[in-house]
Amino acid sequence: MTLAHPAYGQLRQVTETAAVLLADNPGKMTLDGTNTWILRAPGSDDIVVVDPGPKDSDHLDAVAASGNVVLALVTHRHGDHTGGLKRFHRKTGAPIRALSEKYVRASTALVDGEVIEAAGLAITVLATPGHTADSVSFVLDDAVLTGDTILGRGTTVLDPKDGTLADYLDSLDKLEAAGEGRVALPGHGAEVPDTAEVARFYRKHRLERLAQVEAALVELGQDAKPMQVVKHVYSDVDKKLWPAARMSVKAQLAYVRKS
Ligand SMILES: [Zn+2]
Repeated sequence: MTLAHPAYGQLRQVTETAAVLLADNPGKMTLDGTNTWILRAPGSDDIVVVDPGPKDSDHLDAVAASGNVVLALVTHRHGDHTGGLKRFHRKTGAPIRALSEKYVRASTALVDGEVIEAAGLAITVLATPGHTADSVSFVLDDAVLTGDTILGRGTTVLDPKDGTLADYLDSLDKLEAAGEGRVALPGHGAEVPDTAEVARFYRKHRLERLAQVEAALVELGQDAKPMQVVKHVYSDVDKKLWPAARMSVKAQLAYVRKS
């Protein structure tokens, strides 16, 4: 029987070369939990792990037991993707690579455009900042691992610390170009059939919201505070979602005010 998302604690094969182990850490920011991706060419004992996941021994043990781990890759710095790195490295001894030096163990930082050959696969590194400054995607022959840049459902929150809308829109362009006909394998949620199509949908959604924010500023004045804009643009949305909306609006205002 083929498994469907979410399948906690079970290795679910999604493409010929990618399977997922879903961590049991559902939440507001993680949807059903964090996806840990296991990559290997057919017949290979070696595996590449993308995002070992949170600090959860059961999950990390299951990931480590999925094959001979030759490399772990990190899509971005958030704790639900990196919390278990130390333990995972201690357990497997596998080198860990990320864009940010902070998470690198026994290897070097990733470089945009680099092609990694491991577990019988060629994996191209694509820098896709916006969700965070250190967000990267990984391009395979038939799929793109999108981290939190593209999710299985809903849209992405831009981290107010170092995420920017300008970066994010550029990254969606890159994913549209690289993702045509390739399945999106996201950090959260189920896979999506075509990465380019989701990238287009995400861009449309962002630009619509941006137009609403710009229209609100015409009414409220160019110096309007983020929360004033939220009340205006998200008046039809549950107030509980306003703090999250405020983060998005802040990013949009930064974008509008810079351009
Ligand atoms: Zn994230």
